Amino acid sequence: MQKKKKEKTICSYCGVGCGILVDVDAKGTISVEGDPDYPVNKGMLCSKGKNLNYVAQDTTDRILYPEMRWSRNHPLQKVSWDTAFERAAAVFKSIIAKHGPDSVGFYVSGQCLTEEYYLTNKLTKGFIGTNNIDTNSRLCMSSAVVGYKKTVGEDSVPISYADIELADCFLIAGANPAWCHPILYRRLEAHKDQNPNVKVIVVDPRKTQTAAAADLHLQILPGTDVILFNAIARLLIEKRKIDKAFIKKHTVNYEAVKEMAFSLTIRQAADKCGIEFSDLKKAAQYIGNANKFISMWTMGLNQSVIGVSKNVSLLNLSLLTGQIGKPGCGPFSLTGQPNAMGGREVGGMASLLAAHKDLGNPEHRAQVADFWGVDHIKKEPGYTATEMFDALESGKLKAIWIICTNPVVSMPNARKVEKALKNAAFVIVQDISHNSETTKFADLLLPAAGWLEKEGTMTNSERRISYLPKVIDPPGAALADSEILWRFAQAMGYEGFDYKNTSEVYDEHCLLTKSTNIDISGLSYDRLKNEGSFQWPVPHSTHKGTPRLFEDFSFYTNDRKAHFNLPQSLYNTSEETNAEYPLILNTGRVRDQWHTRTKTGKVKRLLTHIPQPYLEMNAVDAHLLKLKEGDIAVIKSRRGQVQVKIKVNFDIRDGVVFLPMHWGKVFNNDFGRANNITNDAVDPISKEPDFKYCAVQVEKFQKP
Ligand code: SF4
Repeated sequence: MQKKKKEKTICSYCGVGCGILVDVDAKGTISVEGDPDYPVNKGMLCSKGKNLNYVAQDTTDRILYPEMRWSRNHPLQKVSWDTAFERAAAVFKSIIAKHGPDSVGFYVSGQCLTEEYYLTNKLTKGFIGTNNIDTNSRLCMSSAVVGYKKTVGEDSVPISYADIELADCFLIAGANPAWCHPILYRRLEAHKDQNPNVKVIVVDPRKTQTAAAADLHLQILPGTDVILFNAIARLLIEKRKIDKAFIKKHTVNYEAVKEMAFSLTIRQAADKCGIEFSDLKKAAQYIGNANKFISMWTMGLNQSVIGVSKNVSLLNLSLLTGQIGKPGCGPFSLTGQPNAMGGREVGGMASLLAAHKDLGNPEHRAQVADFWGVDHIKKEPGYTATEMFDALESGKLKAIWIICTNPVVSMPNARKVEKALKNAAFVIVQDISHNSETTKFADLLLPAAGWLEKEGTMTNSERRISYLPKVIDPPGAALADSEILWRFAQAMGYEGFDYKNTSEVYDEHCLLTKSTNIDISGLSYDRLKNEGSFQWPVPHSTHKGTPRLFEDFSFYTNDRKAHFNLPQSLYNTSEETNAEYPLILNTGRVRDQWHTRTKTGKVKRLLTHIPQPYLEMNAVDAHLLKLKEGDIAVIKSRRGQVQVKIKVNFDIRDGVVFLPMHWGKVFNNDFGRANNITNDAVDPISKEPDFKYCAVQVEKFQKP
């Protein structure tokens, strides 16, 4: 029986985390509108959010009941949940008995709710006895996580969206919020409209919509971000635009960073970045003269083999200027997915422990093991995203359980991922729809409830935790992901999974955070339902949440100081171009599509903006290659190829081409899949793959 009332929930797409009012009428028709009372979006929604009703309503392609194949040569067949759990448990037990707990793994998603993440993490690290749980957030924020840990001691975004309206200078690097975080960008745009003195600097090899509206666009050569940030640091030091008192009292390692900043002259740096000397100076001037300076960044910095170096060198600028822990300033990584941060709070990655505790710390491991009632937790990190598929390919990992993500389209070097899944002894895919290309590789397919069909919580980019209610029933036999996980754990014979509802899971997670830096022991479903959203920490039951961290300049490091960090590498170490592969491929998002289009691809209105994948190319490169707008081009890398139409302009730097990452299939083939050609090289510390730089060649498609 479906409810017929307006409910408050949160958008299931990006990390901005907009509030939505959902109405279900007497006929079961769903409508959505922006929640005017929600502090994030104040009633606004972007094109994706506005059309969520179509996605929620559409049951075409939904997985309605568990499906299982008895062997690889057999088709998937409908089975009961009991049979599905029995088979999953039998296979996992037998593989673990024969090959050990590290022979199985879970690959989950930043779209999972916090409770689902918590359960998967507890099941894997506590009970199966392996740290092989990783997530598609590895492809998104892990370089930023390491950057924050190195700088402020923990994975902690210090500021709030409300700080945007207080700032007078923004440095947006490797991000296009106008398309990818639209509501947050609208807030910034409105603030700038009302305050003409506000300066916006955008760093991007492409003239995106965000760059086009900026006061200054630094159209750098891909991979030169560290050189740029170091040069800005040098200029700030030279022009005495640094906060010496803050540096002296609240930071360490300034001298080393200063020395590195002076390793190149400004002219050398400008040349290496491929930008005007005067523009570099102007950027430093804007930042140096700002009273309140915010840096924002996403994948252009994170998705790189030097992602951590890019992050720390940008974070250094906030420390140099003392622009942290005060209203209207600070470093602000923009999360890609709606609950990537919630997933990290429960430790849902191969290198993390629950409640932001440290996997490498024996005391922390013992605390979590005690809490869960298990003997111990392994100290060695598990396989990260790319390592997990490598291990499947090599046979070290035998079984994988994939939840709410489509790695066959979203992982770099996707052909390798297909090979790995074919090689796996057993693949479980838990998702809402057959639309995901990964479902084809499943030996066991589990139908999950979707947005509006289950309850739980999520944390957005500004540490804001919100409750999402169950508004409608899931179709067929689909179950909430949490219930699937705890019933599997019960089938495995594990104790401590006899939950009656997700509220109990949430209470357990909150309790585990007690006395940590992300203490939310003062939260409960009741508080979230009755009082609205909260920004962590929320350490007791009358605490109102924490909009800004480090206001006392006491950081989460052992010495309570913020740490300047040297980048590991000043220079980019991505795959090199050569005569055969002379162009640099950059991949990314378009405005109206989300990830691998399993949801947005079904909404006709969202296809009117950009209906097909394309290759963006500079007009000079196109001319040299005798290509023109609309031609079908073949883009080849050392790993594969893609065929798409080309768009020719002067908005992208010469020598660089851009391909959207969303498409898996075009014209019934996979010729638009960008990850046919991307590189699975990763940052050595964050293990985040380099989606922003690989060497390619482009030629006109010739009919065979
Ligand atoms: Fe949803 Fe992000 Fe758009 Fe807000 S900005 S409506 S969270 S997709």
